[in-house]
Amino acid sequence: MYEQHDAPMESTVNTFPRHELDALLYSDAAADEQRKVVSARDVYRTYQVGDVETSALRGATIDIHAGEYLSIMGPSGSGKSTLFNMIGGLDQPTSGRVLIDEVDIAELDAYELAWLRCRKIGYIFQSFNLIPVMTCLENVMLPLVFAGAAPDDARERAVDVLTRVGLGERLKHKPPQLSGGQQQRVACARALANRPAIILADEPTANLDLKTGEALIELLNELRVEQGVTVVSATHDMKMLSVCDRVAWIHDGEIDRVVNREDLDIRVGDIH
Ligand code: ADP
Ligand code: MG
Repeated sequence: MYEQHDAPMESTVNTFPRHELDALLYSDAAADEQRKVVSARDVYRTYQVGDVETSALRGATIDIHAGEYLSIMGPSGSGKSTLFNMIGGLDQPTSGRVLIDEVDIAELDAYELAWLRCRKIGYIFQSFNLIPVMTCLENVMLPLVFAGAAPDDARERAVDVLTRVGLGERLKHKPPQLSGGQQQRVACARALANRPAIILADEPTANLDLKTGEALIELLNELRVEQGVTVVSATHDMKMLSVCDRVAWIHDGEIDRVVNREDLDIRVGDIH
């Protein structure tokens, strides 16, 4: 596997040569603002449970630009998590295409998909999904170890990111010993551990109170700016739109419209 975390996968991943990896992982987002890091084209996803067929996505189309903060806004059941599963390579469309850096993820083999999920994308979930019997430090080290980092390097990187999210004094705590806001900050640190290009945050504030939720999305935004990462965050709460660049509305499995946030502020009375 990978020899050392900070020397990303030179010899072992022959389908992603070193120079391409560097470009993907450390791209200068500011210089390349309009580059499409994700492109979903006419994506359908149908679930069959017994006799019941549900169309979770019905032709969803969206481009996501490198380095932007995009909020996906939609009511419960509108298809947000399903869309995230497609973008994150956790599931495949029934029809339509999802391109990550112009590569159709349907064309990736199992190894490349695993690489995408482990190194390219960081996930943050509504319910934190931390491992309760492991310390914060161990939770954040885990994806680094999976990516092949040496234990000392994994520990050092995990301490760095936990310190960055304000939890440098909680390394030995276990998730149940922390508040919801602190747990979600551990999840942020875990998502960032492998220096992903994209963070997918699926309703990350839904289990937090308003103030803690706002602090969390501000933190995500700071991390986006500092680390040049693209943030895609799903929410059904208008109050959680304060920091994003653009808002995409999803309704019944379709992206209705995409609006720049500054345009949104002007018409704040008539959005729904
Ligand atoms: P959201 O995240 O916006 O709440 P979801 O993407 O979770 O919406 O769900 C969209 C629709 O797809 C819902 O009607 C939901 O019941 C259905 N759905 C989601 N996942 C599954 C599944 N694994 N099996 C069957 N139906 C599903
Ligand atoms: Mg959901």
